Amino acid sequence: MVACYDLSMESTDHYDAERFSRQVRYQPLGVAGQTRLADSHVAVVGCGALGSVTATALARAGVGSLTLIDRDVPEWSNLPRQLLFTEADIRAGIPKAEVAARRLREIDSRLTVTAHVADLTAANIARLLTGVALIVDGTDNFETRFLLNDFACQETIPWIYGGVIGAEGRVMTVLPGVTACLRCLVPEPPAAGSLPTCDTAGVIGPAVLVVGGVQAAEALKLLSGTAGPPASRLLVCDLWESVWRTVDLTPLADAGCDSCRRGDHPWLEGRSGGEPSILCGQDAVQFPPQAGTAADLASLANRLGELTDVVANPWLIRAQVEQGISLSVFADGRVIVTGTREPAKAKTIIARYVGT
Ligand SMILES: [Zn+2]
Repeated sequence: MVACYDLSMESTDHYDAERFSRQVRYQPLGVAGQTRLADSHVAVVGCGALGSVTATALARAGVGSLTLIDRDVPEWSNLPRQLLFTEADIRAGIPKAEVAARRLREIDSRLTVTAHVADLTAANIARLLTGVALIVDGTDNFETRFLLNDFACQETIPWIYGGVIGAEGRVMTVLPGVTACLRCLVPEPPAAGSLPTCDTAGVIGPAVLVVGGVQAAEALKLLSGTAGPPASRLLVCDLWESVWRTVDLTPLADAGCDSCRRGDHPWLEGRSGGEPSILCGQDAVQFPPQAGTAADLASLANRLGELTDVVANPWLIRAQVEQGISLSVFADGRVIVTGTREPAKAKTIIARYVGT
């Protein structure tokens, strides 16, 4: 006899009892936790490497509603680590958020998923993140993370920072007012060009799986409400060196910062992190300098020099980083991307090669 699976017979009001039986059996989660997952709404900001892992894990775990935000389309160099995308998606040129939403609906037809093909900015963040109980960071740049941090602090919404470069990963859970926030840990975004990025230093897929997995577990703990408040900690791991360590951030949490304790939200109010402008008569997008940060041209020139020819002088560096796309980074932190008139594409180029 063929077993006929009938959702209406097998489901509770909130979740499918058979489907999630192994999770419910895990006592720290239990029926109460699973029910809360089914009633939860989570935003995954950035649907690339980390976003693919976390969105898949949360959809499969029975989170009821997901909002996906991403500004890019999948590319060939994404396939080793961005699990939601295939060769066919690249040929079709469908934006990552849309592809991700389709895949997740195939995984769970009861999932409510909303895709936004958008660059998250101070102007749209309140609209795009309306009603979410938790934000998971899948971004690749500090400007968006500082914006997320400001929004989360203002709205008292938890968020989970994650980052991967090379084989190294970092995760920090932020519960505003309880734990340290991103600005407690990093008072200002790193200077343009001062840090490696996945496009200059490379990245391996397993590091993404680990960090995304830790982020997803942190999400389940927060959403289920059965794990107690999160600790103020930064997880740092290096899979190539087989090193894992946890940094205690309690002193930072006790002190707090202007964003999480004093209601100062410069990224949310647009005082930090400038808006791009399309240069008149050119195929180029210009980004103003971020407040208080100058570019580290020497460091950037060295790293880009390993990839391509770089023109460098005391005032700027210029490099053709991709076919038809040139990047000019000025000493004051201003950046011009030539070869496109699309701000979102230009931001992607900057996140890749400059890493702000
Ligand atoms: Zn803070």
